[in-house]
Amino acid sequence: MTPLRIASLYALVAAAWILLSDRLLAAAVRDPAMRDGLQTVKGWAFVLVTAVVLYGLVRRGAADQRRLEQQVRATIDSMADAVLVVDRSARIVDANRSAVELLAADGKPDLLLPLAEFADRFHVRKSDGSPLAPDGLLSLRALAGETVRGSEAMLRRADGRDVFVGVSSAPVREGGHGAPGLAVTVLRDMSELKRFEEMRDEFLSTAAHEFKTPLAVIKAYAQLLQKREQAESPPLAVINRQVERLSRLVQQLLEVSRFRLGGRELRRERYDLGEQVRQVVERMRPRSGGHRLLVAERAPAPVLADRERIEQVIANLVDNAVKFSPRGGDIEAVVARHGAEAVVSIHDAGVGIPRERQARIFERYYRAHAGTAEDYGGIGVGLDMSREIVGRHGGRIWFESEPGVGSTFTFTLPLAETEA
Ligand code: ADP
Repeated sequence: MTPLRIASLYALVAAAWILLSDRLLAAAVRDPAMRDGLQTVKGWAFVLVTAVVLYGLVRRGAADQRRLEQQVRATIDSMADAVLVVDRSARIVDANRSAVELLAADGKPDLLLPLAEFADRFHVRKSDGSPLAPDGLLSLRALAGETVRGSEAMLRRADGRDVFVGVSSAPVREGGHGAPGLAVTVLRDMSELKRFEEMRDEFLSTAAHEFKTPLAVIKAYAQLLQKREQAESPPLAVINRQVERLSRLVQQLLEVSRFRLGGRELRRERYDLGEQVRQVVERMRPRSGGHRLLVAERAPAPVLADRERIEQVIANLVDNAVKFSPRGGDIEAVVARHGAEAVVSIHDAGVGIPRERQARIFERYYRAHAGTAEDYGGIGVGLDMSREIVGRHGGRIWFESEPGVGSTFTFTLPLAETEA
C-alpha cells in the first residue's frame, strides 16, 4: 500500500467517524449525562482502532520490503556471473555467491575490501598478464560515471590458480540521476574459452608449419618446370599463382600465431610513416586490377615504430581495400598529423561492411562477408593482428563503412618527437 493510499484511507475513516459517531451515540444512548461520559471512551476507541490498523499496514509494508530485498538478494546470488558492488569510497560493499566461488574466497566478508586491497590480494592484471594502472580498475571508471563493457582481465584466485575474466562495470545512480553512489562490476569466468582459443591458435600454427615445407617444394618445382618450358605455359602460371596465394595464407597464419603465442618484442626505429605508406602502395600496385591507387602525404610523419610490423598493418589494409572493391575505383591512402599523432587512413569505394556485422570485424577469424555474394576469401586474421600491432605501439585503429558505398580504415601512431 502506498503512503498516499494510507493517508487517504485514514482521512476517510476519520471523517466518517466525526460525522457518524455522535449520531450513533445519540441514537443508542438516550441519557445526555451518560452520553457525555461516553465521549472520552469514544475518543479512546478511535485512537485504539487507528493504532491497530496502522500497525497492521506498517507491518505488511515492512514484510513486503523484506520479501523484495530477499528476492533481489536471491537473484544476485543465483547469477552465474560474479557481482561486486563498490561504494563511492572505492570499497567493495557487497559480493554475490558466484564472486566467492570465482575467487575461491573463504566467504563474502573475505571480499569486502577497499578496491586497491582487493586488486592487490587477487593480483588483478591486464588480460595479457601485464600490470594494471592504479586508475585502470573498471569499478573506478564506473564510479566516475562511465559504463564499460566487454573488457578482459586476469585474476589470481585465493587457491593460487589464475583465471581469465570478462569484466563489465556500470555506475548506479540513486533515482537514476546525479553522481553515481555505487558501481556494479560483473566478472565472467572465460578461462575455458581462453584455453579453447589457445588450442585453436596452436593447432592452426602447427598446421601452417606442416603446410610450409610441401608448399616450398611445389613452388620450387613449378618454377623449375616453368624455366624448362620454352614458351609461357598457362597451366604452370596458374599453379604458380595458386601456390603463391596458399603461401601468403600460410605466412599470415604463422605470423599471427607467432605474434599471439608469445609475441616478439617490438624493434622500434625512427622513420617517416608517409614514405612507408608510399612504398607499400607501390609494391601492391601490380596486385590491384582496375583500381587507381593514390597516396596523399599531407605532412611529414616521423614515428618510432617497428617498421616490419607497421608494414604488415598497411599492407593488410590496402589488401582488404583492393579485395573488397571488386569493381575497381579509387583507393586513397592519406597520411596526416593530428596533435601528437600520425594518422593514416585507407579509403576504398568498395562493397562496405554489412552494418549488423561491423561490431565484430576486429575479432580473430571473423569474416564479415562469409556466406554472402561478396565473400572474396581470406581467413579473418589481418585486422585482429593489425589492432594488436597498433595497440602495442600506443596507437588506435578504427573504421567507417557504408554498405555499397565503401570503407575507410584509419590508424594512428604517436609522433616520434612527442615520445620522450
Ligand atoms: P580477411 O580480409 O583475411 O578476411 P581481415 O581481418 O583483414 O581478414 O578482415 C576481416 C573482415 O573484415 C573481412 O573478412 C571483411 O569481411 C571485413 N573487411 C575488412 N576490410 C574491409 C574493407 N576494406 N571493405 C569491406 N570489408 C572489409
